[in-house]
Parts: sequence; C-alpha cells; structure tokens
Amino acid sequence: MKKSKIWLSSPHMGGAEQKYIASAFETNWIAPLGPNVTGFENDIAAYLNNQKHVAALSSGTAALHLALKLTGIKPGDEVICQSMTFSASANPITYEGGRPVFVDSESDTWNMSPELLEQAIKDRIVKGQKPKAIIPVHLYGMPAKMKEIMAIARHYEIPVIEDAAEALGSRIDNKAAGTFGDYGILSFNGNKIITTSGGGALITNTQEAKEKAIFWATQARDNAPHYQHSEIGYNYRLSNILAGIGRGQMEILDKHIAARRANFDYYKTALQNAPLQFLQEPSGFFSNRWLTTVLTRSYEDREKIRLALANHNIESRPLWKPMHQQPVFKGAPSYLNGISDDLFSRGLCLPSGSNLNEPDRKRITEIILNQF
Ligand SMILES: *Cc1c(COP(=O)(O)O)cnc(C)c1O
Repeated sequence: MKKSKIWLSSPHMGGAEQKYIASAFETNWIAPLGPNVTGFENDIAAYLNNQKHVAALSSGTAALHLALKLTGIKPGDEVICQSMTFSASANPITYEGGRPVFVDSESDTWNMSPELLEQAIKDRIVKGQKPKAIIPVHLYGMPAKMKEIMAIARHYEIPVIEDAAEALGSRIDNKAAGTFGDYGILSFNGNKIITTSGGGALITNTQEAKEKAIFWATQARDNAPHYQHSEIGYNYRLSNILAGIGRGQMEILDKHIAARRANFDYYKTALQNAPLQFLQEPSGFFSNRWLTTVLTRSYEDREKIRLALANHNIESRPLWKPMHQQPVFKGAPSYLNGISDDLFSRGLCLPSGSNLNEPDRKRITEIILNQF
C-alpha cells in the first residue's frame, strides 16, 4: 500500500481562522475591504514592531508590482534583481516595461552578493543608466546581507524593494526581514509560512505610499460621485474573507516558525553522517527556516535523493533555478560568480511543513540515509 503523501510545504490552519471568516459572513463584509483587512494589516504592522505601514493585497507579486510603481519606474528602466529567486521577484519589472539585471549570490546566505551588486551598479552607470531599484530576496527564509546592501543602495541613492515573501519572522539583529528596504513585500500563498490561500502585503515607510498603493490596487478611482479615472488601476486588494484566514494565521505564526526551525534541527542531527551541507545562520541572523535546504556533493547525488523520495510519495524540489538561466529572461544583463549555478545543480529543498510529524521526518531521513 502506498504511504500517504508528504508535501514540501502545505497549508497549516490553527483553528481561529474560521472565527474571523464567520464574522465576515455575519457582518456581510464579503468584499475586498472590511474589518478583517484592516485587522490583518494592523496585526502584521504590530508584528513588524509598528515601524512601518502595511497594505494587504491579493498576492506578493501584486505587492512587488506596486512597490515598483512607487519607485516611479518607466519603460526602459533597469532594475537589479537577485538571480537566485522565484520568478515572481523579477516578473513585475517587465509588467512596467522595465528590464531586469540579474546579480548572483554569495555563499553565506545564498542571497544577493553585495560585492557583485556594487560592481553591477557601477557597470550599469558606465553603460549609460543608473538602475531604478534593487530587489534582494530572503530565500528560504534566510535574510540577505541587508546592512551591506542598504549601505551600497544609499551610497548610489537607489531604492530597495525587499522580497520577504519567504521570510516573515526572519530577522537580522532583531530587525524584521522586510523592514530594511524602502519597500518590503510578503506573500501568503498556500505554500508560505502562513497562508490566506492566496494573498500578499506591501510594507512602506509612509502612510502616503500605502494609500497610493491602495489607490492603484482598487482600480485608481478618483474622488468623485461617478467613476472617474486619471490613472490606470488594478484589482489587487485582499478579500475580507481571506484576510480573516490571515488574522487567524497571525496568532500561530511564531509556533509555525518554531516548528519549521525544529524540522531543520531534526534533519541536521539525523543526517549528520550523510555527505550533505546545511546552511548556517551568520552571526546575528535568524531564519524562519521556511524550507530546510541541503547541498549534496553532486547533481547525481541530488537527483538520486529526490527520485528516491518521489518513489516513496514524498515531495522535494531542486533549489530554485536562477533567473539568468531562465529561457524567458535570456539575454538579460547578468553579473555572475557561479554560486547560484552551483546551488541549482546540487541543492535540494526537503519537506518542511509546520505540520510534519515525527513519523514523517523519520520516514524522510531513513530514505535519504539509504542513498549513501
Ligand atoms: C511566493 C513568492 C513570491 C510571490 O508571492 P505570491 O503571493 O505567490 O504572488 C515572490 N517572491 C518569492 C521569493 C516567493 O517565494
């Protein structure tokens, strides 16, 4: 008999979600606004120490799109983006007619290399234009080297959009991922550390920026009794029902982080004699360990493990394929050092849900140990 499926990262409800959904039904706030939307925004802002303003949106991708619009991006502008990421970090650049410029990773965090970032900025300026924005990513929950990245960005006066879609709850020296940049974004997609089934948030420094983003997110309606528009808008606001799920999920976010970190610790101990490398937190860094990732010795080892797990109905996935290798971004200027190519060829994401149990983890690690 086939054993039950183990997913890479599946939704994990806490129980309080339905209370908030029920209140949306009882009060008939079945709309892309309402008390849950405001409540969810306030919960996120409080979690980020109330230093920032938060707009709840339909997805993390929508939040990235609006952050780019807030930078004033115009067709033909270049935007620097971490190459080692999920495509949603880069796609919105092209929605605005911009051109992505990809920067490789460094080996401590697997995120944007500050050295290569500075090299890329200098080179783009020499080639004729200063980049319009910089998009670093906190991949798998590990924060990027934000202090170094922000210092470079400030020196060249380029705004930073921090893609914290995978890193809610991660920190550097106790400062939350998503609050270092001029803008930050979060995702509540079904596979993330908390989920609203689909959803996202934009983090801004000012109330004006938040209001402008909400204006665009609600079809850019001018202030008039009739429908009047002087700008192109979008339908990007989060539903009051989904925000209710989000409020329930915020109550258990810290539990989810503890469970994900416990998965990492379990794997590290159980697999300590296997030829696998785990990514350590640099001093002062705290990762939510959204996904536990390992580096194998070779592409062949990685595939052997991945296929063995798949044969046992267990989902794992190669590390994200860098954007400079993606057919859709062929020809984009890229500043490379080989690190993300290496990560992609021999790295693997292990099942990491906050709902994994002890027998699940045992089943997974036994199969992996059997490959060596
Ligand atoms: C999930 C994700 C996004 C996009 O978020 P959605 O809510 O799915 O649109 C963006 N960047 C990264 C790194 C992600 O993992």
